[in-house]
Amino acid sequence: MSFASLGLSDALVRAVAATGYTTPTPVQAQAVPAVLEGRDLMVAAQTGTGKTAGFSLPILEKLFPNGEADASYRRTPKQVRVLVLTPTRELAAQVHASILAYGKELPLKSACVFGGVGPNPQIRAIAPGLDILVACPGRLLDLVGQRAVDLSKVETLVLDEADRMLDMGFIHDVKKVIAKLPTKRQSLLFSATFSKDITELANRLLNNPARIEV
Ligand code: AMP
Repeated sequence: MSFASLGLSDALVRAVAATGYTTPTPVQAQAVPAVLEGRDLMVAAQTGTGKTAGFSLPILEKLFPNGEADASYRRTPKQVRVLVLTPTRELAAQVHASILAYGKELPLKSACVFGGVGPNPQIRAIAPGLDILVACPGRLLDLVGQRAVDLSKVETLVLDEADRMLDMGFIHDVKKVIAKLPTKRQSLLFSATFSKDITELANRLLNNPARIEV
């Protein structure tokens, strides 16, 4: 199986090849077509399974079909189309670096926000409006409170490592973020484990999800 056969266009296939991957991993083989179809996803996958590319590649394909920006789309200041929530700043930075690598041939505008550093560069990065924002929940809520970011037009939400998000006590922050999003959206939830709490969150968040276990 190849990345092209999953429905990804040349710009993405080339970028993936440049990172050295030749064959999709099982999570990628299942997640990419499901996301392209517009399905919600509930994915049980550990780190190391290739889950980051599993959501990043189809999200980039949907934002830039055939490697091009949708001519009818107008960027609006402070608005975000795709929101990726991660529990830690390390994971946020890592996910953002992967997105930049896969999107290197695309006219992508993205940013990454987390606490522990000054907010002003983050506020400036968001100001023109973004295709993708990767964020830790606490800093994101601070920025929402300052009206530096507008989540009311988010089309796709990714919750990465949802079990760690809950373990670290971010569930209330995550729920506050979700309350700012449009109800009509695509949502993708990734977790290494599916406890009762995660399943409850998944039931609130996801609409008839495709279930993937690797
Ligand atoms: P992740 O599960 O997203 O944390 O990715 C785990 C590791 O697998 C990362 O170091 C990726 O660079 C690598 N990786 C992702 N997709 C593939 C692939 N299709 N083939 C080989 N390695 C991959």
